Amino acid sequence: IRLHLDHPLGAGQPLPLTADQAHYLFGVMRLAPGDALLVFNGRQGEWRATVTAAGKRGGELTPEVQTAPQMDPPDLWLMFAPIKKARTDFIVEKAAELGAARILPVQTDYTNAERIRQDRLQAHALEAAEQCGGTYVPEVADLMPLARLLDGWDDARRILWADESRLGPAQTLAGLPPGPWAVLIGPEGGFSPAERARLGAAPYVTPVSLGPRILRADTAACAALTLWQTALGD
Ligand code: SAM
Repeated sequence: IRLHLDHPLGAGQPLPLTADQAHYLFGVMRLAPGDALLVFNGRQGEWRATVTAAGKRGGELTPEVQTAPQMDPPDLWLMFAPIKKARTDFIVEKAAELGAARILPVQTDYTNAERIRQDRLQAHALEAAEQCGGTYVPEVADLMPLARLLDGWDDARRILWADESRLGPAQTLAGLPPGPWAVLIGPEGGFSPAERARLGAAPYVTPVSLGPRILRADTAACAALTLWQTALGD
C-alpha cells in the first residue's frame, strides 16, 4: 500500500490521518496497528511507515526510514483541451503515470468543456502517483483559455504544438529545440484557423508531428509524453 500524505516526513514523528485516509486504510485495506505501508508527500521521497493508531474517523502513521529518494520528472508540461469527462480523467491519470511535470487544461475555440472539476482531476493525479510508485505529484491547474495562457506566456519555455496538419514521421527528441517544453494537444475538432494563425506566428511555438495518423486527443497526449518524457530519462 502506498499513501500520499500532506505532512513533512521525519523518522519517529507521528502523523495524523484524515477520516478518508482512515476509512481507506482500516476499513477497506484492513490495516491494523503495527502494520507497515509506504508513504510519500511529493517532496521527500518514499518512506516506510507503521500504523501507530487506528480509529473509525482517524488514526496515526509513524514514518520510520526512507526507502527511496525524491524523484522529480524531467521538466515537460502537458497542456490539453478537456474532452468528455471520462477521457479527461484518463488523460490526467496517464499524464501523471508518464511523468508530466505539470498539467494545464486549456479551453480552445473547439473545446466543449466550459469548466472542469480541478479538485477531482488533482485527486486523480495523486491516486495515479500512489499507484505507479512515483514520488512526485504533478500540479493540475484550473481551466484557462488558450488566448489568455499565450498572453501571459513566459517564452523561456517552448510550446511543442501537436499539429494535426503535420502528419509524417513523429518528432524525435533529438530534433527538438532546447527545453524546457510544454506540449499542447488540441480537442477532437483540432485548432481553429485563428488559433492556428496565432500559434504559427509565436516565436516560442514549434509545430510538431506525432506520426502519420490522426490520433484521438487522449491518445495524442499519451503519445507525446511517451515520446519525449521517456526519452528525457523518466
Ligand atoms: N479534427 C482534427 C482533424 O481532423 O484534423 C483532428 C484533431 S485530433 C483528433 C486531436 C488533437 O490531437 C489535435 O488537435 C493534435 O493536437 C493532436 N494530434 C492528433 N494526431 C496528431 C498527429 N499525428 N500529429 C500531431 N498532433 C496530433
